[in-house]
Amino acid sequence: GGQVQERRIVQLEETVINRIAAGEVVVRPANALKELLENSLDAGSKRIAVMVKAGGLKMLRIEDDGHGIRAEDMPILCERFTTSKLRKYEDLSSICTFGFRGEALASISHVSHVTVTTMTAQDTCARMAQYSDGKLKAPPRPCAGTRGTTLVAEDMFYNNATRRQALGKDSIEHARVLEVVQRYAIHNPTVSFGCRKAGGSVAELSSTGGDSATSLDAISVIYGQNLAKELFSFKVSSEDPSFVCRGCATGPNWTGRSSVMIIFINNRLVECGPLRRAVEAVYSPVLPRGQHPWVYLALEVDPATIDVNVHPTKMEVQFLHEETIGQRLQEELAKHLREHGGSRTFAAAM
Ligand code: ADP
Ligand code: MG
Repeated sequence: GGQVQERRIVQLEETVINRIAAGEVVVRPANALKELLENSLDAGSKRIAVMVKAGGLKMLRIEDDGHGIRAEDMPILCERFTTSKLRKYEDLSSICTFGFRGEALASISHVSHVTVTTMTAQDTCARMAQYSDGKLKAPPRPCAGTRGTTLVAEDMFYNNATRRQALGKDSIEHARVLEVVQRYAIHNPTVSFGCRKAGGSVAELSSTGGDSATSLDAISVIYGQNLAKELFSFKVSSEDPSFVCRGCATGPNWTGRSSVMIIFINNRLVECGPLRRAVEAVYSPVLPRGQHPWVYLALEVDPATIDVNVHPTKMEVQFLHEETIGQRLQEELAKHLREHGGSRTFAAAM
């Protein structure tokens, strides 16, 4: 009876399939935000303002002053595999922009209610449109606005109770969202980033931006002088394998309870186990037990040697010559730590 019935194989409804697939890409508000920030940066924005309500679950709003979205692109904006950045599979290896497969907005629209207001330099007024499940809900309406794009995602995971319940408290999700903004602000110091809670009167983050601003400036505004004054800058590069790695890191006198490792590869915020372990190995003999460094590093490699298609969230990347690059980075950091008063323990360990 019932047993046999339950085991029958049935085709899932398309909306259910899409929702499941979207849940793999957008796991939490911070993932969605990362995609949206990348879109704003791809659009050449100089100012990006983020507003967050209930950890981003109730609302996530990103306002930018980028090039905007053309009227004729509005209807398919949130459909899967619609992109202005990739034409054929081979392009993946040479792509320089963040976005590359037209999946982010589709995914976000499958797990939340999306409203987009946008205006290009050619437009005489802005347009607003709402999307659900990848589709435009009604024809875009003209409205007042300035050049750029504002995207609002509301009630994230309203249709996916399991995903919703797997998340932490709102405060934890909020912290993750803020962390993503902080990291992009450090890596893009010439862009002014803001982040505030909806209804909050003070910004939790506000970087200055401007053509002459450096990552160190941004770090000092965001994390304060106490950290900034302990940092040294480094740069290491080579022609074969071809790479440039620059960043800043704390010296031997900095003590942190947990390590902070901010890694960008080809301008993408990533997790990279091998690089993280390479850096930690340099610090562990230098720092007292239980103390950790703060490191920001930006690595640029030939796009053809990097595989950005390993994981749906694009968080973990793989690239060729990981080991060689890791070693060169270690030598460079070790040199700086010695110069900045590395302890005797350190000298002995080398
Ligand atoms: P992808 O970034 O991979 O192309 P997305 O789903 O993230 O895919 O975005 C789809 C398209 O929408 C982009 O290719 C871009 O043309 C447009 N777009 C999205 N966000 C913005 C934005 N903030 N400003 C201008 N255009 C945008
Ligand atoms: Mg994108």
